[in-house]
Amino acid sequence: MNGPEHQGSPVSPRARVLPWPGRSRRAKAAERKEAAVHDALHLLRNGLCAVCRERDESATRWLSYFIVENHTEEGTCARVQAAAGLCPAHTRRLLGDASASWLMPQVLDLALTGGTRILGEPGSRPARCPCCVAGGEAAQRALDTLLRAFGRQQVREALEGGAVCLPHTTLLTTRVPWTDGLHLAETASALLEAGGRETAWSAGMDADAPVRAALLDRLAPLVVEAEHQQRLSVTSRWKADVATDACPLCLAEHRETRRLLTWAATTTDRGHPAREESALCERHLHDLTAIGGPNVEAVLADNRDQRSARLLRFRRLLGEGRKGRADAGSHLLSVPRCRACAEERTAVRRQAALLSAQLHDPAHAREYEQTHGICLRHALEWRGGLPAPVHEVLTARLALLRWEIDEALRKQDWHTRHEHKGAEMSVGQRAPTLLDGRVYAGLPAPGEQADVRTEDVPKNPHLISRRP
Ligand SMILES: [Zn+2]
Ligand SMILES: [Zn+2]
Ligand SMILES: [Zn+2]
Ligand SMILES: [Zn+2]
Repeated sequence: MNGPEHQGSPVSPRARVLPWPGRSRRAKAAERKEAAVHDALHLLRNGLCAVCRERDESATRWLSYFIVENHTEEGTCARVQAAAGLCPAHTRRLLGDASASWLMPQVLDLALTGGTRILGEPGSRPARCPCCVAGGEAAQRALDTLLRAFGRQQVREALEGGAVCLPHTTLLTTRVPWTDGLHLAETASALLEAGGRETAWSAGMDADAPVRAALLDRLAPLVVEAEHQQRLSVTSRWKADVATDACPLCLAEHRETRRLLTWAATTTDRGHPAREESALCERHLHDLTAIGGPNVEAVLADNRDQRSARLLRFRRLLGEGRKGRADAGSHLLSVPRCRACAEERTAVRRQAALLSAQLHDPAHAREYEQTHGICLRHALEWRGGLPAPVHEVLTARLALLRWEIDEALRKQDWHTRHEHKGAEMSVGQRAPTLLDGRVYAGLPAPGEQADVRTEDVPKNPHLISRRP
């Protein structure tokens, strides 16, 4: 029992109350059923969406517990290492926390150790962010609670009325008995066709969306600048990209997606996105809504229609006997192709190909040696061997990063309080561009003075670095 997920139940304490001893089996079953209904109603009481909310609250508990207690605990450290750090959204949460100045070097230490180990093991991939895992498990528990109570009319009516978001309603639809699934799919279709529901219902809740939106707004001038450079020459744009103090692959990935979403949100003339170009995943629906524009409502309507069509197909399959019912769930849950996710992949692939082509020119290879270079995440995702200059620059940047992290950790120790604290103390803010450039959406780290406040040196021995 070493995680916050074991400290609090996602549902009311009644879930842990066992039926009275000495009662008949039927009485115990009835009590369990009643407890499940109580828990489900408790979950549904606080508005949209019970499952998203349980996921987010569990992730927040995990982070809080990590910050104050178990960031030095062996099992937790192993999980953060195996994932090569936390995901971009949860790294951003840590960066925004008051603990960032002393905790980030410790997290980066784990991320760098784990990431470089994975890089040295061909074929291995980072595990899932442990904070996301905790959130996913809580969402699963909330879904199970709702499923156990689905037979109660009050619970069923709430779910049919849109009490949980569409993605979670869709999941529930595939897990209830097929006759109930048919009805739930019908009511979800009716809600979609009626329209007027907020993005939090149609795409699920996304606590990171406002933070992402602010970052993506900072990319807008870079979209214009890249167009200017590309008009001069392809090499001119490439040089401007690698001269940015960030991973050029992360920059292209986010900049080109921003360009696509801005086009989709604002273009209303004959060149506006066709219906088949409008399909977006939940994350990108939130990003599109945040950009805003005269075409947003049309794109959202297209996406509602596409989801409605999938529900209709699901309902038809349910009516086609045993074979249709066997296929219906997997059809409904199959991930539709998101235009913006495809754009991310294309942008990275094309920028990596351009990088490889440019590095054949010795003059460009020498210029690349002076740049930030690609991030560790993109090195882990690189198909085939890294070109020699890319590998050398990455190795050099990570070696310096290792020294800075070690130095920042060493200077967290009370016994080094007489030493001068310089720029190495801001490594926590800067390192994400080298480890995973998605944290700042492909942008350079925000400029910040090194934090040299003596009171930041943790007094709690738990908070002092494990390094001597
Ligand atoms: Zn939800
Ligand atoms: Zn995460
Ligand atoms: Zn990158
Ligand atoms: Zn997407």
